[in-house]
Amino acid sequence: MAQSAVYPGSFDPITNGHIDIISRASSLFDKVIVAVTQNHYKPPFIPQADRLSLAQESLATFSNVQVKSFDTLLVNFAKKEGVRIIIRGLRAVSDFEYEFQLAGMNKKLDSHIETLFITPAEQYSNISSSLVREIVSLGGDIANFVPAGVNDFLKKYVK
Ligand code: ADP
Repeated sequence: MAQSAVYPGSFDPITNGHIDIISRASSLFDKVIVAVTQNHYKPPFIPQADRLSLAQESLATFSNVQVKSFDTLLVNFAKKEGVRIIIRGLRAVSDFEYEFQLAGMNKKLDSHIETLFITPAEQYSNISSSLVREIVSLGGDIANFVPAGVNDFLKKYVK
């Protein structure tokens, strides 16, 4: 059976940790859809159109990865794309509680949905979009945490 998976997130911004997860998923599935959310409750740091194009540019070398935006319920987006598998990343035990709850809610919303968790290589386990936002806003160097295009964008963006 040809299998596709969706990797949803706010990607605000996409980091080397996300890319490690996507790289692992792209070697496991025929197709991976990276789904960039519009955050309805918290205004994002970076507008959705820019988060989308930064993800597209950072993932251009993965031929079986597509980047799409989505503004609906994730399970509805997955159904529309014909996908049953949701990928999420787990960095540490601290991610587990929220991710476990999210996976359970999505399964309640659509019992066919399966959430699969992927852990990153150790050097990525401390990277988070929120710390990248904080560091760059305070003038720190984020070059080791994000792709070069994201670094360039953010340095100009926070000026
Ligand atoms: P959300 O806003 O939905 O939590 P994120 O863009 O922050 O989305 O993250 C998307 C997914 O990637 C989440 O499952 C998150 O735990 C995971 N993730 C984020 N950073 C990393 C990282 N450095 N390594 C592995 N997984 C990560």
